[in-house]
Amino acid sequence: MDLAELVGLRPTPCAGLLLTLTRRCPLSCAHCSTASDMRGADPPEGGLLRLVRSFTAADRPELVLLTGGEPLLRPELVAELADAARVSGARTAVLSGMFFARGGRVPRRIAAAVGRVDHFSASLDAFHEREVPRADVFTVLRTVLDGGVPVSLHLTGGGPDDPYLAEVTGQVRRVFGDAVPMLVNEVRAVGRAAGWAARQSAPGPDGRPVPCAMAAWPVVAADGAVLACCNQQVVDRRPVPAHLLLGHTDRDDWAAVRRRALTGPVLRMVRAVGAPHLYARFGTAADCTGTCAGCRALPDHPAVYAAAARTGAGPVGELLDLQAAHAQAAAGPAALVRRFGSAAWADLVTLGATPPNLPRTPAPLPRTPAPFPRTPAPLPLGEAR
Ligand code: SF4
Repeated sequence: MDLAELVGLRPTPCAGLLLTLTRRCPLSCAHCSTASDMRGADPPEGGLLRLVRSFTAADRPELVLLTGGEPLLRPELVAELADAARVSGARTAVLSGMFFARGGRVPRRIAAAVGRVDHFSASLDAFHEREVPRADVFTVLRTVLDGGVPVSLHLTGGGPDDPYLAEVTGQVRRVFGDAVPMLVNEVRAVGRAAGWAARQSAPGPDGRPVPCAMAAWPVVAADGAVLACCNQQVVDRRPVPAHLLLGHTDRDDWAAVRRRALTGPVLRMVRAVGAPHLYARFGTAADCTGTCAGCRALPDHPAVYAAAARTGAGPVGELLDLQAAHAQAAAGPAALVRRFGSAAWADLVTLGATPPNLPRTPAPLPRTPAPFPRTPAPLPLGEAR
């Protein structure tokens, strides 16, 4: 699986599942969005394995993305999850900060895990390079490529004009040609960067319909909560807003998580038109203080929430959701990165992609299962970290 195919699946509801294998990380990068360190929690492996083993050939995500923290601190679990996913036909990818790469060698346990996944991504940026030399990362990427596993780099820069991005992307292409596609992001003021990174100066939401593709893949947090998106405050804070909570690995299988993700009416509307449009359409646009802030605050605006739930529960909501997913998937992976990553470097995501992974008419979405109650009761979860 190459990076373009992986990113191309991102707008399709339940085409992917993000699993947090740990909040621990031995590195201490100043921009870490999850603020991970070695005191972080590990979700019990039983819940993660149970969820993946509940996939069936007819009801599974295309891709399970293993992340953290540093997921390769649990290499045996990475291998077990990859094997379990493959039984149903699902594929796996792992994203690593490359803590093990110093010296350019891949420890045996980590090599065994990486050999089991379908895609390997490494984080690289000025902060990671202070901890792990770039030359060592390149040596490991070459080893993984030679082992037959497709690789990519997740790069982060200070902004589109950051000279670091021009320099590192140029070197990657000189060394690897088109064999290593790149997903480029810009530092955001979240996690460990909250205290120093500039807040986005982009204009605030204007109430026009803008779909949220980040609400398409369920996310398992370190406490086992299954969430509708990877927004860091949704991942970190408890309780989770009702429309963004899909269940818990202690008690829910994939069929239950998928049913809630596809039929949650407010979630459907957030995916299809975005929270700012819901405020503009059903309430007061000025009450929406930002795309994600407004989304998280929807339960505090009962009239807007109830109107979104009514619309999302019916055929109009279902159709809007399907249409938004189709349109975003058809636009292709580079278009998605232009919206959610660094627009200036978006085309690097398709480097080396085989033609079927370039913009195309997406496969039909899965049939929507039976309706789910409009506003699921919040599940009891731990308090904010
Ligand atoms: S708009 Fe809502 S669903 Fe989308 S990423 Fe932000 S908080 Fe999550």
